[in-house]
Amino acid sequence: MQKITLLALLFISSIVNAQLVSSQNYNADHQLLALEIYEKTIAMRTAAGHNQVKVMAHYLADRFRDGGFDESDINLIPFISPNGEEIASLIVRYRGDNSSNRKPILFVAHMDVVDALRKDWVKDPFKLIEEDGYFFGRGTADDKSGTTLLTSAFIRLKEEGFLPNRDLIIAFTGDEETEMLTIEDMVENHRNLIDAEYAINADSGGGRLDTNYKPIAYQLQAAEKTYADFTISITNPGGHSSRPTRVNAIYDLAQALKEIESYEFPIESNDITVEYFKMRAAAEKNELGKAMMDFSINPNDSRAAEIISKDPNQIGIIKTTCVATMLDAGHAENALPQSASANINCRLFPGTTVNEINSRLRQIISNPNIKINVSGTPKSAPASPLKEEVMDALRKAVHAQYPDLPVIPYMTTGATDGRALRAGGIPTYGSIALFSRGEDNFAHGLNERVLVKSFFDALEHWQILIHELSQ
Ligand SMILES: [Zn+2]
Repeated sequence: MQKITLLALLFISSIVNAQLVSSQNYNADHQLLALEIYEKTIAMRTAAGHNQVKVMAHYLADRFRDGGFDESDINLIPFISPNGEEIASLIVRYRGDNSSNRKPILFVAHMDVVDALRKDWVKDPFKLIEEDGYFFGRGTADDKSGTTLLTSAFIRLKEEGFLPNRDLIIAFTGDEETEMLTIEDMVENHRNLIDAEYAINADSGGGRLDTNYKPIAYQLQAAEKTYADFTISITNPGGHSSRPTRVNAIYDLAQALKEIESYEFPIESNDITVEYFKMRAAAEKNELGKAMMDFSINPNDSRAAEIISKDPNQIGIIKTTCVATMLDAGHAENALPQSASANINCRLFPGTTVNEINSRLRQIISNPNIKINVSGTPKSAPASPLKEEVMDALRKAVHAQYPDLPVIPYMTTGATDGRALRAGGIPTYGSIALFSRGEDNFAHGLNERVLVKSFFDALEHWQILIHELSQ
């Protein structure tokens, strides 16, 4: 049993004045343990370059030890980041009785945060502060809520003697916000420790509340588009601008950009986007809602696709998009340009490769003198096919608090650690269990916050979810 000493309780309550949410199912010890972990880890500045990721990994490893986890099931994996900082990952195995004869379930979150400067924040970003019904602090949402909720869930389940029907594994990474190399290190070099049938990523998804805190829907992230930048460029001999020639790098580049602008990428769909539009259609009353419903019935309905494409919030869900984002051309007001280049930012529909888009751009641009180069090494991953048992378990956990709330799978245009897992053959579902209003989303930004009630509700959500998935 994880004992919260009176001293710890006083310590916590003097700093965090949180009202423990009481409900007959809620466990006060569990709430206090979670609060303590939340507070301690938010005080660790785990942004790149501050040497705190390893400290946090050791701290959490100690919590698991105290919680009764066997030393051999706690793996702290050191890693040197490209900037030379010693960081780490933490992998913890909760042994099941194997009665289901199935591979483990992996639970993922990340320990690092985007940096925050004290002078820019209203409150100290590296101190958990509770005010007006919110927890404030860097990482309260992204993603120290994830590491805290999972750690305390595992410790509570262990304490209650819960025996899952298969192994459960926690994997906390150390550089999700920067290089995303610790997740790749796990997938490539420590596969035996994290190998699983599927993963739940406590770093995306979650419930949406309207302005009045009324729940609208719960979202499960099951796919991510691939981010890729391409540089298109052309060079000319140049010359004096008083003697213009027929070749001009700026005009050539402009022509190529117009060709990209007028190109329509093909409409695409998968079971996640179809399900997403089916569920979203109900919430959209106008023409868009009807188009969403029509598209979910027939993804080849070009009229529906055209209406959806007009909405910038939805266009990325039905196709690959490429758009010019930066220009660089010429070197003097009175000289013919010797070079011109532009950045084309593409978001690839899952299943589309970077090479395919490279050749597509080659076809779209009629001028063979225009060069096309991929920037960096973009990584892509397939969508994760929806699993009915995961959807069912998630609905039970969500409906325990909000009966009948729609649970909607969706695809994001940004990337998380889920990408490397999906690329490594482990289907991954993003679901953090927190509920928030759109206007309270300050992840990566200033004055990041999480609703106190939502945090405590999420503790219960994870208990239900893990029980449902593994008993
Ligand atoms: Zn995150």
